Formats: sequence, C-alpha cells, structure tokens
Amino acid sequence: MEADQIRQKFLKFFEDKGHQIVPSAPLVTDDPSVLLTTAGMQPFKKYFLSEKSPFGSRVTSCQKCFRTSDIDQVGDQSHLTFLEMLGNFSFGDYFKTEAAAWALEILTKEYQLPLERLRFTYFGGDKGLSADLEIKEIWQKLGISSDVILPYGREDNFWGPTGRSGPCGPTTEIHYDSTGQPCSRGDQCQPGCSCGRFVEIWNLVFNQYYQDESGSLSPLEQVGIDTGMGLERLTLAVQGVSSVFETDLFQPMLEHLNATPDDYHHRPKPYRILFDHLRGVIFLVSEGIEPSNVEQGYVLRRIIRRLIEAADDLQIKPDHLSAALKWLEDKYFKIYPEIQGAASQADLILEKERNRLSRAIQKGLSQLSAVGQQISGQEAFKLYSTYGLSPQELEKQGYQFDRQEVERAIEEHKKISRRGAEKKFGGHGLKEEGLSDQSQAITKLHTATHLLQAALREVLGSEVRQRGSDINPERLRFDFSFSRPLTEEELMEVSRRVNQYIQSGLAMTKESMKLSEAEAQGVLTVEGHQYPTEVDVYAIINRDGSIVSREVCAGPHVKNTQDLGRFRIVKEQSSSAGVRRIKAILEDD
Ligand SMILES: [Zn+2]
Ligand SMILES: [Zn+2]
Repeated sequence: MEADQIRQKFLKFFEDKGHQIVPSAPLVTDDPSVLLTTAGMQPFKKYFLSEKSPFGSRVTSCQKCFRTSDIDQVGDQSHLTFLEMLGNFSFGDYFKTEAAAWALEILTKEYQLPLERLRFTYFGGDKGLSADLEIKEIWQKLGISSDVILPYGREDNFWGPTGRSGPCGPTTEIHYDSTGQPCSRGDQCQPGCSCGRFVEIWNLVFNQYYQDESGSLSPLEQVGIDTGMGLERLTLAVQGVSSVFETDLFQPMLEHLNATPDDYHHRPKPYRILFDHLRGVIFLVSEGIEPSNVEQGYVLRRIIRRLIEAADDLQIKPDHLSAALKWLEDKYFKIYPEIQGAASQADLILEKERNRLSRAIQKGLSQLSAVGQQISGQEAFKLYSTYGLSPQELEKQGYQFDRQEVERAIEEHKKISRRGAEKKFGGHGLKEEGLSDQSQAITKLHTATHLLQAALREVLGSEVRQRGSDINPERLRFDFSFSRPLTEEELMEVSRRVNQYIQSGLAMTKESMKLSEAEAQGVLTVEGHQYPTEVDVYAIINRDGSIVSREVCAGPHVKNTQDLGRFRIVKEQSSSAGVRRIKAILEDD
C-alpha cells in the first residue's frame, strides 16, 4: 500500500464514522506559543475549550507539521523536520471507547498490521494522580491481551497542559514492533527501549482535566479526544521497512538525485538529510518564507545550509536537486495545492543561498590566511559558528587543526541551541526522540546536586543553603550561601564524600506530602521559591539509616546513586556577595 493510499484511507475511514475532513492548516501559524505548526491538534486548540467548532464535533485531518528542535538529528533512522500528522478529534462528542475501537479497527483491518506486532501503553498513575484503568479495560474488552497493555508514568502517558494552565489528561499510545525480536535486554525490551525496536505510531490523548495555575486538577466539563499519528511512521509499519526514509515517501527521490538504492545504503546519512530537507524547504517556501536570520526564515536558512553540505558531500549537482524538488511538487500538489510553483521558487532560493554561503566561506578564510595552514581548534570552531564553515570544508581547503576539539565544541553548541529550541517550540504529538542521552545526563547531574549540597553542609556547616542551580548535559552549576572561598582541603573533602555516597549505592526515595509538613520536618527547600501545597520530598538514606539528604524537589532523579559515575569539581568561584558557585561534572568510571 502506498503512502498516498494510507493517507486517504485514514481520512475516508473517519469520514465514514461521521467526521468532517478538514484541510491542513498552514505551517505558519498565528499561535504565539510555536514558530511553526508542530501537531495536528494545534489548529483545533480552541475547540477543546469553550469555542464552538465550525466543523462540527468530530473532525479528521492530515496536518503539515514542522519540528525545529530535531534539525540537527535528521540523518538517523527516524528524525524528520517536516512531517504529516494524521488525526481524529472529538470536541465533547465520543470518548475513549470509540477512539480505541476505531484505532484498533483501522490499524488491523484497513492497514492489516498484525495484532501481535502492536503494544498499548496507558497512564499507570503518578504524582498523586490515579491510573487510567478505564482505557486498560477498554483495550482488554477489545481483545488485547493484558501482557501487551503496559502502564507508564506521567512523562510518557500524560499530556499537557501546554502552558501553566489548561486542558490535559492521560494518553494511550500504540507502538509497532518493527523487528519482532527483543534486543539484548530480553524481557526488558519494551516500548521506549533505546534499541529502536518499537516505533510509537499513534498517540491518543484524552482531554479530561483542567489544570489551574496552582497545579490542581478538576474534571473538564467537555471532554475531548485528540489523536496524532505520523504518516511517515505508519507507512514504515504498513510497508514493513526499517526506517521512514525507506518508504515510498522518500525512496523514489533517489532516481531524481541520480543515485541508486545502493548509493543510499552505502551512505544513508547525507541522503536522509537531503530527503528530509528538500521536503522541508519546498513546504516552507510554498508558504512564502524566505531565508533570513530570524524566526521561520532562520529555520529555512539552516536547513538549506545542511542540504547544500549534504549535496556537496555526495557530489549531487543543482540540476538533480531541482529534479527532486519538482518530483515533490508533483507528488504533493493534489493534497496541498499551495505547493504549486514552489519547486522553481525553491531552486532560485537555493542558488542564492549557495552564493551567499560561498561568500561567507571566502570571508571566513580571508581572516585566516594570515595565520597559516595550522589553526587552533577554537579558531576552527569560530569559523563554524560565525561563518558556517564546517570542519570538512576547512580540511578541504588544506587547513590543519585538532578535529576532535572542534567536533566537541560543535556538539556543545548544537545542544545549547537545541535546548533553546525545545523551550520555545514545544508542542505535542509524537514524542521527540533522541534526547534520551541528554536527559539521562541531566538526570544524573541533578541527582548529584543533592549529594553536593549534602556534602557541602557536612563539611562547611548547615548555614550552607542552595541559592541557585543550573544544569546542562555537560555539567552542574550550584550556587550556595557561604562567605569565603573554599580551601583546597575543603573541596577535596566535599568531592570525597560525594563519591563515597555514589559508590555506596544508596537508594533515592520519593514521598509526597504537604509543603507545611515538609517544612516542619526540616526538609530542605530553596528560599524564595514558589512551591505547590503538595510537594515531593526526595531522600537519600545512608546504609546505617541516617539521612544524607532530604529535599523538596521536582526531579528528575536516578533511583540509585551508584548510577552516577565519578564526581569531579571543576571550578569554585564567587557568584555574588555571600554566594559561592561550584561547577562539577560526572565522568564515567
Ligand atoms: Zn530493545
Ligand atoms: Zn532533585
């Protein structure tokens, strides 16, 4: 079954179930919380609240989406910037029973996915919220075996609200088993496993609560259904291939790029970048976006740069890029008529950006010629960050430098811009992947911060209190009240204690209680911080039962300190009057 049929079948199926088909909204949205549309529900947001839907209470759509937070990860198995999101929506109409039954029906009957390849996750209860046993029972009644209906926590199976308040609720997700074989983790290989066996294909969100500013939930008067299924991932499952790039949404582009499937399998990464970015470029251009240094224009400029680099790398000529763009226009024209004429426009823009890029390269290089062919890693990085000159390009020009140092600096740079992008562009729908390593690093460093504060208080006295904390995947930064620089001995003793706690393998426990009670028990809080009335208290208890640390905190934390590796303080300095600052890292043992 081709992707075009898969898309059409979805809309037709839900039309037959009384849904109105609503054409995709533009990528450029008037929603101030996002730069570009990132999920199928975005155009319908207001109908989940009080506003009446002009399309009726049941709608279905295939929405153009663009995820800026994933740009740098495109090239692996699954990341995309542009994607098409299929969805069915209920505004105060049907609820869980119908949504689940229809999802199962279309996947197994219309798309003929084997039931044994599907897994169903649901909200198993977390942070004082009860489990969604209703959906568990619905899946069971539909004939799904209990051992493939799996409970997950709030991070995985609870959605929203988007801001500080708004509708939210539990979700159920359908995952596709792409290999039929567990990885080396055996029974632990379940949806979410990092081996990539399971592909999340459909997310069904049950809007049933309203969260107010204080964080408390009340039942929504009008419940709603919001679902999102990436067409690319569904096509992967239906066509039984191992990557979205191997579906008929992308593979035919090879011919136009004057390449063969063999070429692709030989060097998948640059081809995947071309596949994704060509599609992204033509859709952005079709909405009138032009390259610039701000907002949507900057997104376009970035993907054009990566596209040009990948094309140069593969020695693909501009003519072949044009042919691929034309193919895309012809392919999508029937579904998204606004794309008509965009291929030739994209050609012109690519040409202009290519010239602009080579001028930048010339300018960057001209600054260098004075220092000769041997340059420092820092300089090479600066050429990358300022002029977009990649290390490959520099090497091609005959320059020599410490390649590893530059790559490290570039990675760091990307992570920082990615984090900024996530903050700004967070939407919802399919979960963003590829962040697991970073979020794991943050989880560890955050947990280490608890141990650091405990050790500081032991060594320097209990007047030490947290004044601030900032964590990124590379390091922790901890500000605390103390009036003088720490001595070498004190720093060593603090490190020694933290490492001792890590090596002892102490469990981290969590307990919910009223804030007033936590304060009465002397649990540490951060002065001046606003807490909800009900809080989580995280404790680390010594082997002999004595308390190492108890803090009111929202996480994230590891379950056992033994997972942290080796703790090392890299800097101690003044932060402001009466406040010291420590920067520390965790190294692999
Ligand atoms: Zn696995
Ligand atoms: Zn914490």
